[in-house]
Amino acid sequence: MDAHPDTLTQLARPHRKAVLVALLWITIGSGILFGFLNAFRGYLPLSLLEWGMALYSAFLLFAVRRTRHLERWILAYILPFFTAMMAAVATPEASVTVFGWVLLIPLVGHLLLGRRLGMVVTLCFLAVATAIFLYKFRGDTAVMDIRSVANMVILTACITVFSHVYEVSRERSEIQLLKMAQTDFLTGLPNRSRIKVFFERERSRAGREQQPLSLLIVDLDHFKQVNDRFGHEAGDRALVFFADLLKHRLRATDLAGRLGGEEFGIILVNTATNTAIQVAEDLRQALADADLRHDGQLIPLTMSIGVAELGVDGQSLQDLLAVADQRLYQAKDQGRNQVVPPLAGQPRAPSGQTVSGPEQIL
Ligand code: GH3
Ligand code: MG
Ligand code: MG
Repeated sequence: MDAHPDTLTQLARPHRKAVLVALLWITIGSGILFGFLNAFRGYLPLSLLEWGMALYSAFLLFAVRRTRHLERWILAYILPFFTAMMAAVATPEASVTVFGWVLLIPLVGHLLLGRRLGMVVTLCFLAVATAIFLYKFRGDTAVMDIRSVANMVILTACITVFSHVYEVSRERSEIQLLKMAQTDFLTGLPNRSRIKVFFERERSRAGREQQPLSLLIVDLDHFKQVNDRFGHEAGDRALVFFADLLKHRLRATDLAGRLGGEEFGIILVNTATNTAIQVAEDLRQALADADLRHDGQLIPLTMSIGVAELGVDGQSLQDLLAVADQRLYQAKDQGRNQVVPPLAGQPRAPSGQTVSGPEQIL
């Protein structure tokens, strides 16, 4: 499962918001303080810049509290903040120590914008800061001493690399945690939570592109007997075997997940009822024909399937699950090992005949 970029941005949001709020408070405090210090020393343009930044940060603090567009507000903070920093280091009054603030660029850039955009913004502003530094101190032999310059360059490079590595590994851990939270431990299939996320995304796409979407609910038949007869471990193996069958038989664009126990949900994208019935029937047949053995003995596995279609049977996942579940129970009542499609009083096979489960043949 690949984490969707939007999902990653969503995950990073609380963390970025906390960093942004902390920075805004720091900017307000230091803007007021340095504004006064510079005003007393007579550097009025610099103090006006600092007060302006403090005022703007106070406004942003108010705006980010409830925004749904955090990324925009982050840029609305970072770009003027870094630009003001460049203006501050460029003023004739600013001493070489003011350049220490430049070290914040890689740190803040990565924490607030992530590894890619953070690196781009960092490199751009570091390039500007370097140009200002070289221009400002071009004749100053004390500042331009090779050891001090080397110290500054190495320190900035270290902070840039550390910030980047930290952000890359934070993103990786988040993807890993997300995967674990959305994956069924036994079968490796997506769990209910991932099915929900996938359904919401595909429902929007289906709406936009005017495409059908179907849902299957699968329940293995008499699975308790499998456990009772062959043991729980063999039951687990059977579930993994079935999960692999689903993984191999479905298209990469579809999604099969474990709803819980021996119940599975399958979302078939761009698929209307008739094709969904065929897919369900193929899966049913494949499992009924499967040759899974325990100590040389065949484990009999069959399944019952309820089918529902978006728009026909409901609009939400909850609606579709409820309707498909009703049909699944209808399939159980009618003898198991069969598919019950939408809008049908009777189970039917793709051929249009009544579904032929072994129990019905007998
Ligand atoms: P039906 O055809 O009506 O669905 O009968 P069933 O026996 O499959 O249904 P029931 O709900 O009575 O039993 C489900 C069984 O699935 C009971 C439970 O032990 C088994 N089961 C659920 N989760 C797991 C699991 O993770 N591993 C194993 N081995 N068995 C499980
Ligand atoms: Mg069952
Ligand atoms: Mg069940």
